[in-house]
This record gives sequence, structure tokens and C-alpha cells, in this order.
Amino acid sequence: MTRTVYVNGEYLPEHEAKISIFDRAFLMADGVYEVTSVLDGKLIDFDGHAVRLERSLKELDMPTPCSKDELLEIHRELVRINGIEEGLVYLQVTRGAPGDRDFVFPDPETTEPTLVLFTQNKPGLADSPAAKEGIKVISIEDVRWGRRDIKTVQLLYPSMGKMMAKKAGADDAWMVEDGFVTEGTSNNAYIVKGSKIITRALSNDILHGITRAAVLRFAREAQMQVEERSFTIDEAKEADEAFVTSASAFVMPVVELDSVTVGTGTPGPVAQRLREIYLEESRKAAI
Ligand code: PMP
Repeated sequence: MTRTVYVNGEYLPEHEAKISIFDRAFLMADGVYEVTSVLDGKLIDFDGHAVRLERSLKELDMPTPCSKDELLEIHRELVRINGIEEGLVYLQVTRGAPGDRDFVFPDPETTEPTLVLFTQNKPGLADSPAAKEGIKVISIEDVRWGRRDIKTVQLLYPSMGKMMAKKAGADDAWMVEDGFVTEGTSNNAYIVKGSKIITRALSNDILHGITRAAVLRFAREAQMQVEERSFTIDEAKEADEAFVTSASAFVMPVVELDSVTVGTGTPGPVAQRLREIYLEESRKAAI
């Protein structure tokens, strides 16, 4: 079945979808995005993603392409047309295609934002084999820009980090700045020590993960102790458990860090419990 995608008001077969070479995202990475997961054919935490998108747009003075209700409708329509039971909806908004390359932002009165959405079918997303074994992580220096709280499409360094991990025989990389872990290439990072779940506090240094917010809320509701503070790679190596969260990986245990076994080298009870709670509660609230 040919995938149907959405481009600026139209639902099209993917090979008919076109974007201008003058699009600001193509020339300058002047775009923001969201990834919303789909379980049982329903959207997980759509509201959180819509709110963060609005914030990203506002921080960059980028026009809003359509209302939240319209966005929800497009998400649902793509999930329906493409028959997605488990997978993702990718959304990207760019500052549009002014017809020339210029560092100055185009006038929003004459240049409309570009809005693109597509689905990725991922059967078995929730029942992932990686979650049963845990993943291996390496540490790399965080050399990204200073507004990591804005979800832009400037993903070259995270992509390079992922390749550095693959080359080292690992699955992902945690980025380190001034001696402290910021986050994973595409996820938020956590350690567990004793009864405490430790993760870096929110600031411009990290993306404000929608999954992070949900997982910390569920953890607190389950009377688990949460400490929002920075930690080092050395502290993580000595932790009882480590894990990451993201909309597409949910809660993913980390069992090795820079070739050192974390905890028992298998997914720990806290990460496993949080994954269970997250999937259960998110499925209940899915729309
Ligand atoms: N940090 C970074 C750098 C990311 O790219 C992502 C995933 N987009 C996350 C954290 C996790 O965010 P979320 O839970 O909203 O997917």
C-alpha cells in the first residue's frame, strides 16, 4: 500500500508530495517538529505534543500553520488512511519557501509556513525486544547549540552521535556538557540510585520531553522518589539502573555505559515498572 502523506492542506501519495528547494528548513534547518506515537490506532499524549509545538513556534517567531483541532484531525486522518495500529506520526512546520535564500526571516504575510505530516508504521513498538534486553550507550561531548529546549530539525549532531555509538558497538549516545549528562541523542536520560529516580532538571540545555513529563508524573503518583538534578557519567556507571525516555521508545532500560555494566546488566525493576505504568496509563488516555 502506498503511504499517504499530508503537505500544506493536501493528502497525497508519498511520491507526489513536493517541497520547494527554497524551503527554509532545507536551506537553514529553519523548522520544528514533533513525533507522536500511535498505539491501538490511537494517539499518545497528543495534547502535550501540540502544546510543545506551539511553544517551539513561538520561541522562533514562526507562524502557526493551523489550529490544534485541525492538527488533531490531520493526525487522525493519516492514522486512519494508512491503517496504523502501532507506529508514529511525524509532523514538521517550517518558515516556508520565500523563493530566494536570505538570512532575514521572510514576511509571514507573504510567505506561508510549510506543514508536512507522515506516518511510520512500526508493528511491535510497545513489545520491543530492545526493552527486554536493555540498550548500550556511549558518552560523547555535547556540542549542540544553546536552545535545545526548542524542538528544531537541526539534528546533524545527534545523528552523528548515533553513528559514533553504532561504530563503538553501542545503540545510542549520552551527551555530556561541563562534566554533566545533558540527554541522549533523541531521548531524556535517567539513573536510579537506591529508591531515587534522578534526571536533569528542565532548562534550555535539554528538550522538555513529553514522555519525561508523563513518566515523572506517574513515578510520583506511584510514591517513587524523583530528584531533578544533573549527574555525571561516573555517577551513572555506579547507579543501580539507568534508562531513557522518548515518545517512540517509551521507557527504555540502559544496561551498559561506556562499556561498563550498569547495575546487573539487565533491565532493572524501576525502569521495567515505569515502562509498564507508562504504557498502561498512556493507552488509557490515548485519543
Ligand atoms: N531529547 C531529545 C534531544 C529528543 O530528540 C527527544 C525526542 N524527540 C527527547 C529528548 C524525548 O522527547 P519526547 O519524550 O517528547 O519524545
